[in-house]
Amino acid sequence: MSKHLIDPFGRTVEYIRLSVTDRCDLRCFYCLPVKYRDFSEPEEWLTFDEIVRVIRAFASLGVQRIRVTGGEPLVRKNLPALVSQLNDIPGIEDLSLSTNAVSLGKQATELKSAGIGRINVSLDSLRADRFKRITKGNLDKVMNGLMTAKQLGFDPIKINMVLMKGVNDDEVEDMIEFCIENNFTLRFIETMPMGDTGRTAASHYVNLQDVKNHIAERYELIPGVMPGGGPARYVQIAGTDLNIGFITPISQHFCETCNRVRLAADGTMYLCLGQEHKFEFRPLLRAGISDSELADAAREAIKLKPERHEFKEKPQQIVRFMSKTGG
Ligand code: SAM
Repeated sequence: MSKHLIDPFGRTVEYIRLSVTDRCDLRCFYCLPVKYRDFSEPEEWLTFDEIVRVIRAFASLGVQRIRVTGGEPLVRKNLPALVSQLNDIPGIEDLSLSTNAVSLGKQATELKSAGIGRINVSLDSLRADRFKRITKGNLDKVMNGLMTAKQLGFDPIKINMVLMKGVNDDEVEDMIEFCIENNFTLRFIETMPMGDTGRTAASHYVNLQDVKNHIAERYELIPGVMPGGGPARYVQIAGTDLNIGFITPISQHFCETCNRVRLAADGTMYLCLGQEHKFEFRPLLRAGISDSELADAAREAIKLKPERHEFKEKPQQIVRFMSKTGG
């Protein structure tokens, strides 16, 4: 039996986005409705032992990278304990974290010792009032988390900015300068029509090809490369260490090279961010499945991976918020 997970379209799956909760301590307007309360309940979440069993099964089939995400992963209690269990799984070579950094200041040291190497931080604005309007959160806390991570030597630290017309698209240069100054990597993301919130944000959609052309008028760009195996296409600003990535699910999708699947907090594996294809691990785990049966289940799950998302053709299709799928 092959030690690799190859989907029906010949792509090797070696990366899992692992969502440890669908809850979040921010309310980015393009992600979760302000009054949203319909979160899954703790008894529906996979326990740490259950998560580790699933990841071990996937690792035995060639998965090497795990990104811990959410919702906001840092709101799940004892996260460093889970990270350290994941770090001990043979075959897992890269453990990273996506966070809004609100409580990173408090948890960064423990997360680093537990095995997190790389961190992505969502940051849509450098202006406190605007940050509050977009996220309902406090920019100072995020900056504190970010600077703590920098001092601890996480490398690279990537800033993810969802760029939106009339919301924050006038901050492109400020964000570039901020990232040059702090030695961060910068990634711009196009809004995706996930849930009603994502669709509302579509009216602020910015085509990142245009943004790249605009940046090229102001800075000299050379081809960039970054580790991580993700979908961003990078350029570097000549004479600096700054790599800028463009994540363009709408203007130029990257499905043909998709190497990932998403395990939601409740044990549902989503095979594509923009489709409903899914596989339920929780009932199997709670019915006492063996490790070898779990590996078989992992192979079955990968057979369901669709060819591509259809965000552009069918923007009404995805009713899940990003926070539920695991961004
Ligand atoms: N809380 C963590 C964080 O802030 O990075 C991880 C989860 S969050 C859902 C992951 C990323 O998804 C964030 O960068 C967020 O801005 C992005 N996101 C959420 N909804 C989106 C949408 N409709 N379109 C594009 N990006 C979205």
